[in-house]
Amino acid sequence: ATMPPLLSAIANAGRHGVLVKSAVVMERLGRIDAVALDKTGTLTEGTPRVVDVRPLPGRGLDEDELLSLAAAAEHPSEHPLARAVVDAARERGLDLPAAEDFTSAPGVGVRAVVRGRTVEVGAPDRLLAESDAAFAAPARELEGSGRTAVLVLVDGGPAGVLGIADRLRPDAAATVAALSVLTGTAPTLLTGDNPRAAAHLAAEAGIEDVRAGLLPQDKLGAVREWEGAGRRVMVVGDGVNDAPALAAAHIGVAMGRAGSDIALETADAVIVRDELAAVPATVALSRRARALVV
Ligand code: ADP
Ligand code: MG
Repeated sequence: ATMPPLLSAIANAGRHGVLVKSAVVMERLGRIDAVALDKTGTLTEGTPRVVDVRPLPGRGLDEDELLSLAAAAEHPSEHPLARAVVDAARERGLDLPAAEDFTSAPGVGVRAVVRGRTVEVGAPDRLLAESDAAFAAPARELEGSGRTAVLVLVDGGPAGVLGIADRLRPDAAATVAALSVLTGTAPTLLTGDNPRAAAHLAAEAGIEDVRAGLLPQDKLGAVREWEGAGRRVMVVGDGVNDAPALAAAHIGVAMGRAGSDIALETADAVIVRDELAAVPATVALSRRARALVV
């Protein structure tokens, strides 16, 4: 028997490295008219590297001590930034003390007890109170050059800042352009990262519409808002922080290689090989299959 067009399209998508979970999803993919892309791990390679280690004066920690405490606290986390911090510590040959009472807050950071001290690592804007604004200066400086600044608090007080750099995926700009043509609308960047680093990266990817500093529920809110206005949104993301938005979207697509388990389970389709350009290719496959189904 000849395969029904939607099943052939699923097989074809597989050849592009995209796992489409059902024929219903394959059919729906071609109907999207808006796209929201996550930044870290989606538009970027998701293998960020620590490029600055800056202890704050007067806290008694040197670079290695700061990095070692931060890495110990980050060790249980699956966030790409956490892996960058752990790798940087290992590259310096630092030992990672055990972390106890680990907790993580998506879009914020992590907290753990290391050598009897409470260590928090995460977004400066989320961890610092307004009154701590003075401590934000080194973070602002790093962000101004397109880096993600990660703040380290020890026993509640700012102890240092790490500067992390991540590369745009080589096919990001082409993907943004292709999705604009396919949907007739320019994609939006939804990110938990700070507005300065986000703007830097969006410009490189050719994205004008940027929403930064978002918590997972804010990403969800943006998708609900568009869906409520009658848009059919495709969300592409990789993180725990993207899961609610992936679930609410007309189509949720997860990055497979480094994506979190919850994102992979929630998504309607998974990019198994690491190519973002497979997304517009799959939308086009759906359009062709639907033309044949009618
Ligand atoms: P994105 O939406 O770009 O994928 P996330 O929502 O995952 O970003 O993270 C948003 C911000 O929260 C990060 O830029 C970082 O400042 C902070 N953050 C979240 N998790 C961690 C972590 N494990 N370590 C350090 N910072 C974190
Ligand atoms: Mg992400």
